[in-house]
Amino acid sequence: MVVSVAGAYRKGKSFLLNFFLRYLNSDGKENWMGEPNDPLIGFQWRGGSERLTSGILIWSEPYIIRNNKGDEVCVLLMDTQGAFDSQSTVKDCATVFALSTMLSSVQVFNITGNIQEDDLQHLELFTEYGRLALQTYEDKPFQTLHFLVRDWQYPYQHPYGAKGGSEILAKRLMINPKQHNELQNLRRHLQECFKVITCYLMPHPGLKVATERDFIGKLSDIDDEFKVQVKSFTESIFQSEHVVIKNINGSDITGKELIEYFKAYLKVYQGSDLPEPKSMLEATSEANNLAAVATAKDFYNKEMEKVCGGDKQYMKMEQLKQEHERWFFAAIKMFKDTRKMGGADFCAVYEKRLEKDLLEMYDAYLKNNEAKNVASALQTPLVLVLLAVV
Ligand code: GDP
Ligand code: MG
Repeated sequence: MVVSVAGAYRKGKSFLLNFFLRYLNSDGKENWMGEPNDPLIGFQWRGGSERLTSGILIWSEPYIIRNNKGDEVCVLLMDTQGAFDSQSTVKDCATVFALSTMLSSVQVFNITGNIQEDDLQHLELFTEYGRLALQTYEDKPFQTLHFLVRDWQYPYQHPYGAKGGSEILAKRLMINPKQHNELQNLRRHLQECFKVITCYLMPHPGLKVATERDFIGKLSDIDDEFKVQVKSFTESIFQSEHVVIKNINGSDITGKELIEYFKAYLKVYQGSDLPEPKSMLEATSEANNLAAVATAKDFYNKEMEKVCGGDKQYMKMEQLKQEHERWFFAAIKMFKDTRKMGGADFCAVYEKRLEKDLLEMYDAYLKNNEAKNVASALQTPLVLVLLAVV
């Protein structure tokens, strides 16, 4: 589960993530919010107008929580550079936002005041990607999107929390024939691309949080209503029914596989232009295949280690060949059975690559085995001599 918080800078994203950290560090303690005078630490956050976070940061410690099936799920937290500050170009912002959306399973879109038309347009790039992906994917390409509205000012119209949020969201996402075509399409695409879209209304945290220079995040300096809502929002994100394992094209993604996606997306984003949705989709297909190759190789390696790893005895060549064939075909089958994107010809290239890699691995096992034979041949007379002496 990859939880990302993205949106404009200086709007309390890192501040919020540190509450997520407190929760995840607390091991299910009831009073996880901490002591009134503890400073709030973790991701760097700060008052003033300078930007602190740059690019995408992932908290170095993964946390384990359980989903509603009782499975253990690894959680990664992702902080992002503020979009649309003076130092970033439009490209930087769109890049960070798109990357974090593609890599996360839960995207918290942090906005201030209200959901504006601009905020929705910000999401346009992915809906375009999503539309392309929809033609290849079997499912909606993105998972959960939470609009998190900070400093909500009209609790008497729509109450703080999820209920008021869903009222606002229904209004904002409503498709109205009077709207311009583009606005209607954007709304339609958003709903096609994300499995779950929700909205949560947060109160203002109080003047100390918003304006005081020396504010270090003490709970005692934060308004009570804000604390209530931060607590409930955080708990709902990690509540077992809301745990969302990162899924790409119908497959749950492991940490190891996520790295393949990271690498593939970074390659696409290195060019000088904002990537076309088409190249993002190609990168996804590539990473998808690379991840399947990596998993199949891992499997082959694990099985071969069990029979002829470094700590195992020399094995007859014929027997080693049999073991290789058994696990070679099992690994190829595993690759073939994995749901992949890009079409048959595209995947065939990666299958060839897997075959080649597996044969190279086999070669290394062969050499290793041979070396054991030589070693034992050398050792035998010595052992005999020693025995003779005894
Ligand atoms: P980021 O750039 O979005 O990561 O923002 P930070 O987390 O670094 O916070 C920027 C400033 O906003 C800090 O001074 C926080 O004390 C303050 N802040 C945090 N949460 C809120 C909020 O909900 N509303 C307001 N008005 N300020 C907040
Ligand atoms: Mg920040």
